[in-house]
Amino acid sequence: MKLLFENWRKYLNEAHGLKTTWDDVHIDDVFEIVGSTCEDGRKCITFKPSDLESKLANKPSVTLDPERVEGAELEHPLIVVVDRDTEEYQYIMDGNHRYAKAKQLDAEVQVKELYTDEYENLFITKLRVFDFDDTLAHNVAKIKVINTKTGEIRTLDSQKEFEAYEEKEGETLDFSEFKKVPEETPPIEKIIKIFRNLVEHPGKDRKVMIITARMAAAETAIEDYLENLKPPIDTRKIEIVGTGGASKAEVVEKALKKLPSVNNFIMFDDSEKNLTDVREMMKEDFPNIKVKLRQPKIEDGEVRVPIFRH
Ligand SMILES: [Mg+2]
Repeated sequence: MKLLFENWRKYLNEAHGLKTTWDDVHIDDVFEIVGSTCEDGRKCITFKPSDLESKLANKPSVTLDPERVEGAELEHPLIVVVDRDTEEYQYIMDGNHRYAKAKQLDAEVQVKELYTDEYENLFITKLRVFDFDDTLAHNVAKIKVINTKTGEIRTLDSQKEFEAYEEKEGETLDFSEFKKVPEETPPIEKIIKIFRNLVEHPGKDRKVMIITARMAAAETAIEDYLENLKPPIDTRKIEIVGTGGASKAEVVEKALKKLPSVNNFIMFDDSEKNLTDVREMMKEDFPNIKVKLRQPKIEDGEVRVPIFRH
């Protein structure tokens, strides 16, 4: 079966006057998300054409080529875009000919739902990732090393010290300070400016993420911190992920798998290890994506953001 997006591209243009760059998006990218048949992936829902039509916010209304309607194969599911928040059916993204044929025959159709956020992800071509500590803000939280026998506490004061730390018996690490972001945490203005500029000029084809090694519990604290900056940064469109110390490369990989059209990736992170991991993963898994890595450095109070070349 070779289904191209022409069906719905034409449909959307004619029915809704939408003008978007579809060129890099392919139905196979949708199949990756929902599966291509009713036997695989997301479950199919059976509808009578009239019931489906009454559920759709945008009714199918385009005149279709009768020959293609005739040739449509009803066992293939339709793809319907569904609003993630309201669950309202939006329109038939793929399968208008099948729908028309089922209507003529009064036969049932199979539907696979694709959520609006998944749909929007198909068109994102640029991913921008920022670390939080010592990238967007000067880190004031400390990792504590607790001697479980004596109760003695010392701290690891930098990313470098943490990476160099080797676990010893009788010692446990305490990350509890990393659950919060105290309001007095100084922002790194130079990078906040870049970040703010991306967030305040949102592009439909661009996604901005913060990936931090902090635990997931810190995600809200980071959001609050950014919302409390002057002027505030609107975090609604930003995805914040706390890996809890797990590999950032894995998180980036997972994000990119949901963004099949990305061809350009930029990451800001002060950690050489994170940048090296991500670079290796990108080379291996996404060799066609253009990658630019930037490593913020603070020397004598001066912030520089050189391109990471190692
Ligand atoms: Mg950092």
